Amino acid sequence: MTPKRYVELNDGHHIPVLGFGTFAPEEVPKSMAMEATKIAIDAGFRHIDSAYFYQNEEEVGLAIRSKIADGTVKREDIFYTSKLSPTCHRPELVQPCLEQSLKKLQLDYVDLYLIHFPVSMKPGNDLCPMYENGKLVFDTVDLRDTWEAMEKCKDAGLAKSIGVSNFNRRQLEMILNKPGLKYKPVCNQVECHPYLNQSKLLDYCKSKDIVLVAYGALGTQRCKKWIEEDAPYLLEDPTLCAMAEKHKQTPALISLRYLLQRGIVTIAKSFNEKRIKENIKVFEFQLPAEDMAVLERLNKNYRYAMVHITSAHPNYPYSDEY
Ligand code: NAP
Repeated sequence: MTPKRYVELNDGHHIPVLGFGTFAPEEVPKSMAMEATKIAIDAGFRHIDSAYFYQNEEEVGLAIRSKIADGTVKREDIFYTSKLSPTCHRPELVQPCLEQSLKKLQLDYVDLYLIHFPVSMKPGNDLCPMYENGKLVFDTVDLRDTWEAMEKCKDAGLAKSIGVSNFNRRQLEMILNKPGLKYKPVCNQVECHPYLNQSKLLDYCKSKDIVLVAYGALGTQRCKKWIEEDAPYLLEDPTLCAMAEKHKQTPALISLRYLLQRGIVTIAKSFNEKRIKENIKVFEFQLPAEDMAVLERLNKNYRYAMVHITSAHPNYPYSDEY
């Protein structure tokens, strides 16, 4: 099966199936996100993923606008995703948070706006508000009220499409069953790769016409703040490496291709020119069914980003099976 370059969302908009990730740990200069985004657009990426939380929207916006200014793309060629800060779940803070992103981006709208994480945190300038004892300062918000405010952002034309990220099935159902629901989430962006293939969540999302978007598709950036040091290296997996050799590809491309062939919109982050150009070549080969079956068996429900620091909140998403 050859994946199409775009899939239709349940609101009629189209999302490019391969996205470019722009998150990097704090110590990486934000200018690198700008340079990498320009290279990615030149290489052919049309879907750019960022978030308020990444604090790089000024630089990513500059990159997008410079590629519009030099004639490489038009605004409508780019599919840009931003995400709501967990500190802005209160309904009255949702649109202002999006407006702040748009101001930094110097764009009129985002193509997709996501509730970044279901755990609400205390409003304020601090992106990760902490008590002195190192515990997060949570907030209590009904995510259905947050969702209504997201719907208003769509109605105001500030976001073409709206969706969620890191929601489990129960949390998706809560939104879908909300009385007076105006728009369904178009997608759920979650960690997904051969070690965490999300087959149950994928089936559920497909049954509701919700696109599953994969992050961490290459085994994440192993950011010290979020990921255990002894986490397995996905791209060194012997099965993945053997399959890469067999197809004269790289383990990264095998992982990306595996996800795309399952109908998953897939994000790949790289700030390295060679690897950015490599990743777009995922459309140039196919995995036969028997290899897809081999990759399916690599699943061990291993989640890199457990975000344990949020586990005491009632909306912590990873206590449920999926
Ligand atoms: P990822 O896509 O899994 O990539 C991990 C690492 O793989 C990158 O740091 C990159 O390093 C390396 N890499 C890229 N291409 C490669 C290749 N061809 N061969 C070998 N290594 C390669 O990273 P991720 O940041 O975890 O996820 C991707 C994006 O998803 C993020 O940037 C962000 O936009 C989004 N995301 C969303 C959430 C959420 O909560 N919604 C959470 C995490 C991430 P180099 O840069 O050195 O190439």
